[in-house]
Amino acid sequence: MGSPKIIVSDRRGKMYDLPFLEGTGMKGRNFFRLSPRELIKMPHGSELFMLPGRMPVGYDSRVRRFVALEGFLPVAAFLSPGYAVTYNTSYSEVDSPKTLPLFSYGAVTLYKGDCYVAALRVDRELRQDLRCMKVHLVKKNVRKYRRLFPDNRLVRHLEGCALSYGCPAAKNFFLARYEAPLPTSPYCNARCIGCISYQPYDKCPITQPRIKFIPTAEEIAEVALHHINNVKDPVVSFGQGCEGEPLMVEKTIERSIKLIRKTTARGIINMNTNASRPEGVARLFDAGLNSIRVSLNSAREKYYLRYYEPRGYEYKDVIKSIETAKRKSGFVSINYLTMPGFTDSASEFNALTKLIERCGIDMIQWRNLNFDPLRYLEKLKVPESGQTLLGIRQTIRLLRKKFPRLMIGYFNPSNDRIKRNSGQGIR
Ligand code: SF4
Repeated sequence: MGSPKIIVSDRRGKMYDLPFLEGTGMKGRNFFRLSPRELIKMPHGSELFMLPGRMPVGYDSRVRRFVALEGFLPVAAFLSPGYAVTYNTSYSEVDSPKTLPLFSYGAVTLYKGDCYVAALRVDRELRQDLRCMKVHLVKKNVRKYRRLFPDNRLVRHLEGCALSYGCPAAKNFFLARYEAPLPTSPYCNARCIGCISYQPYDKCPITQPRIKFIPTAEEIAEVALHHINNVKDPVVSFGQGCEGEPLMVEKTIERSIKLIRKTTARGIINMNTNASRPEGVARLFDAGLNSIRVSLNSAREKYYLRYYEPRGYEYKDVIKSIETAKRKSGFVSINYLTMPGFTDSASEFNALTKLIERCGIDMIQWRNLNFDPLRYLEKLKVPESGQTLLGIRQTIRLLRKKFPRLMIGYFNPSNDRIKRNSGQGIR
């Protein structure tokens, strides 16, 4: 079968495989040969990008060394949801090029005549599988919901998300599947370097603009109740990519949760959050919130602060919010923004296991960080050397061994899924 081959692109986007060069992967600033055991067929719905201002790096077994190729551009895979990148695509920069847009850049090779990527599947749900989300049905229900909710501004906003930005969460609302999004906040008290809805310094283009209004509690409850009443095992979630931080509009969310819980006890009400305000978290669980997903690029404070650039809160507030949620019998996930060569370092693993042990975290949602791999290390001031890397696969294997009840996945779990994992649901 032979070794996986490098895939490169010319400036017009035409792709080639070069049989004399092996495909490689990059972790941190280092290159690695890829064994077929580390590869899976590129998942349906993944996209391929060419990276301007950079040279692809392959391995030449004739001279036994890594070589950078002038005149070609590297090719990277942006994987579909549910898959974790284990190696970034290998490249070296030419004359400090522009920072890459806010996507993740997985290694892709030619193997067995097909595109194979360095990745592993972390979630088997078809929640965001494009083959299950027929666009003509989304459009049909957008028209139907216009008649059902003629004055609901949040439904209008979600129409734009589904039809203009192709947001899978918004599409699932119009398809009455799995999880519905409840974006509410135009504001945020962090300045994440990789924020997909707000980039102050125009370093990278945002991938979706922020909501510009705060829906009323009634508008939010109307959307949530429609979804909860029409989906078998529903989840509704505050804290979406098209908004700031939901805790900034906590009072409106509190009223909406009370309206929802006054009508039904069904379903999971979840909040994706930067967990910056423990008192707000406490009030929302008292109102009927069931779970939170806390966004975290690192369990090491210095790297957390360099990524989130918090305004008016500290890392210890995030930990306090997690402990508060657990005290209120809430289900707590970490939205773990992962980067090969950083997340799989031994020191990060030790910090993460301490956090899981201390707080009793229920789930790690393994999310590829959408950020330029080399610029990320620069911005976080990650040392050039001295990192012991475990590998992303090994890191997940060790987590599963150390915490057998810890859920590892990608999506906010429904009540039935939590029940299947722990023998009891939270509703
Ligand atoms: S917490 Fe969320 S909304 Fe706020 S800056 Fe970070 S990514 Fe953006």
